[in-house]
Amino acid sequence: MPISAVVPTERFVAGTDGPVQLLEVRLDAPSGDVEVLQDGRLIGRAPAGAVTEVPLEQLAGDPGERAAVTVRAGAEERQAEILIAEPGWTVWMISHFHYDPVWWNTQAAYTCTWDDLGEEAQRVRAAFQQTGFTLVREHLATARRDPDYRFVLAEVDYLKPYWDAHPEERDHLRRLVAEGRAEIVGGTYNEPNTNLTTAETTARNFVYGAGFQRSVLGADPQSAWQLDVFGHDPQFPGLAAAAGLSSSSWARGPFHQWGPMMWTHEPREGWADPAVMQFPAEFEWLSPSGAGVLTH
Ligand SMILES: [Zn+2]
Repeated sequence: MPISAVVPTERFVAGTDGPVQLLEVRLDAPSGDVEVLQDGRLIGRAPAGAVTEVPLEQLAGDPGERAAVTVRAGAEERQAEILIAEPGWTVWMISHFHYDPVWWNTQAAYTCTWDDLGEEAQRVRAAFQQTGFTLVREHLATARRDPDYRFVLAEVDYLKPYWDAHPEERDHLRRLVAEGRAEIVGGTYNEPNTNLTTAETTARNFVYGAGFQRSVLGADPQSAWQLDVFGHDPQFPGLAAAAGLSSSSWARGPFHQWGPMMWTHEPREGWADPAVMQFPAEFEWLSPSGAGVLTH
């Protein structure tokens, strides 16, 4: 039962005396049990699977310390070092928003005049869909109330109008950026559909976007933010790297995230496994120039 990998995790399960840290063990031909020992003492055991999560019930040590353990699967043994993690943290996911100006709504309506449009404009609008000004104002108000609140803002097509229309908020926003509580992402003017435009247009999108985010807001954008664009120019990651960015994030790839789940299996009913996407969730996106950005 060869051990192909031992992967330390910061995941926990409920144990009899509180949260118990998991150690992930990968096996080529699983059978029997996987055991984990610390200083010769058995601290966890689980039935073997291709990916086995062993609860370390008797792990000794304090959070932040490193513990040497021995993993045993049949006749195989492997030494590993794990970082003892601290349970009890709560992660709050703060939702992001973005603009679809031109093709779905006007920039003005997305910014602040959506409420003033007629019935037809409200019919295509979900209850949670607010204007950019409302959302930025709510982020800033929540940040005032809650010192732990952190959020991201991105596109210049609402940032600059907000900055221009609300000079009274500039100090507050700049302070949140300096403290790392507001992260400015994108480094572009908007989310350009770079498969439809020229490289020069993309370069200008970076020049004006990163210029505003860095030189006016005082931010340091690191991640290109291509969440909902319809396609990607293969040269984009090289241009992003040239603009000083180190990563990018998308929701639509060569396939939309729903695409492979909907269309790549027969019969076309229900949902397919998203794992049929043709590349991993994180990868190095390289342009023909050889430059690129780490991408999720
Ligand atoms: Zn969109």
